[in-house]
Amino acid sequence: MSNANTVSSTWDRPFAPPERIPGEADVVIIGGGIVGVSTAWFLAKQGVRVVLCEKGHIAGEQSGRNWGWVRIQGRDTREIPMMQEALRIWDGFKEETGEDVGFVRRGCTFAARTDREMQAFEEWVQVASEYGIDSRLIGPDELGKHARDASIDWAGAVFTPSDGRAEPHKAAPAFARAAEQTGASILTSCAVRGIETSGGSVSAIVTEHGSVKTSVVLCAAGAWTSLFCRSLGVAVPQLKVRGTVARTAPGADVLDGNLFDESLGIRRREDGGYTVAHGAILQHPITPATFRWSLKYIPALLQEIKVLRLSFGKEFFEELNMPRRWSLDDVTPFEKTRVLNPEPSQKVLKGIRRNIDAMFPQLADTPIVESWAGMVETSPDVVPMIDAIGSIPGFHIATGFSGHGFGLGPGAGKAIAGMLTGVETGIDLRPLRLSRFFDGSPIKPQATI
Ligand SMILES: Cc1cc2nc3c(=O)[nH]c(=O)nc-3n(C[C@H](O)[C@H](O)[C@H](O)COP(=O)(O)OP(=O)(O)OC[C@H]3O[C@@H](n4cnc5c(N)ncnc54)[C@H](O)[C@@H]3O)c2cc1C
Repeated sequence: MSNANTVSSTWDRPFAPPERIPGEADVVIIGGGIVGVSTAWFLAKQGVRVVLCEKGHIAGEQSGRNWGWVRIQGRDTREIPMMQEALRIWDGFKEETGEDVGFVRRGCTFAARTDREMQAFEEWVQVASEYGIDSRLIGPDELGKHARDASIDWAGAVFTPSDGRAEPHKAAPAFARAAEQTGASILTSCAVRGIETSGGSVSAIVTEHGSVKTSVVLCAAGAWTSLFCRSLGVAVPQLKVRGTVARTAPGADVLDGNLFDESLGIRRREDGGYTVAHGAILQHPITPATFRWSLKYIPALLQEIKVLRLSFGKEFFEELNMPRRWSLDDVTPFEKTRVLNPEPSQKVLKGIRRNIDAMFPQLADTPIVESWAGMVETSPDVVPMIDAIGSIPGFHIATGFSGHGFGLGPGAGKAIAGMLTGVETGIDLRPLRLSRFFDGSPIKPQATI
């Protein structure tokens, strides 16, 4: 097993600052995760002059560190139309761009150990049928065909054959290249420090390498959105949980798709190995934001109470000492942490190893060859916030994708591009407006992180 202190070569690579930056753009996007790059691609396809600024690497944070599940199963109904569109985009991406991101539809299975869990799955199957989604309940015999020779005595599962998976280290970089080839400027090692306004509206963004004049900005800055927006006087609720992930060497053929059980989240990789995480541990390092936003997060906290592990340590003091405002002429927190690279938990990694061996004895000799962690940023009802910010005309946010934004990313990109240019996409973004957390609307998570 790799040591927690080992930084894999995937994250530890040289930065490539831009040689020059365009002086002007129709739209500037802050953040080169799957949401930012997909939006850039759809804007470029509309002929919009778009510049994307990423402080580190494309997909250096959540979008390159996730499990790679592209699923509609179990989603909040507010995300379903966007996810249906996302699946269509994943399907057609290779043919349209020539880029292979490893997307295949091999199904998604949530397995149940008890009849009570099966009842909860029944509710989703009802919802799915209303949207024409092919989810169905399966018994232990059929489950045995998806999770081959597993040694758990499952009661059954919910299975969605049309769900898929893709390779996170390939996907966002491929969307970024597609955007670039369609005319977008993709700038890496280019932190955005802030924005300038004229008469209250956006007039430019200021990066560490100079300014870009623009009247439209999208902040798709993942775990950094709340900090960035706070410096502009815009409140965006955001808390983070750390997810530890492991990759095995190629191993026995026990699974084609994605499988979740209370002990393990596991999917087959295109290299024949498995991407694996613990099924029942979400680690939340307590920070000042935990207290600031606690009331809004009570429903989500109660929902995740069984799997949530709170810790108190350096993250609290790092956030406490983080400036809230800064001069646009000085180095900002975004340049100081080019890539948010939390350490994987050794304790969780041990649990993952134990749980693999217990579930799939045929993988007991298959080594874990890489491990990493990612900070999942969540909204209070664990669905995204995609909105125009009324107090600063021209400024928009797309954030809070809450542990399931990788699969959704391309659909979100299309919808956000439509929001920015007024092109109709048929995807209703009103349920995802930021103001739902401030206008007295009930905060009700429908799905898990
Ligand atoms: C461990 C883990 C497992 C997950 N598993 C899944 C899964 O299986 N399926 C799924 O659908 N989702 C999954 N997710 C969630 C998914 O990865 C995220 O929802 C999605 O990647 C969010 O994309 P994003 O573009 O919004 O953010 P990010 O990928 O975090 O990108 C934001 C980018 O903005 C940049 N940035 C921030 N501030 C600035 C600035 N001031 N200037 C310039 N750049 C800036 C950052 O460097 C970063 O690269 C998982 C997440 C994690 C961490």
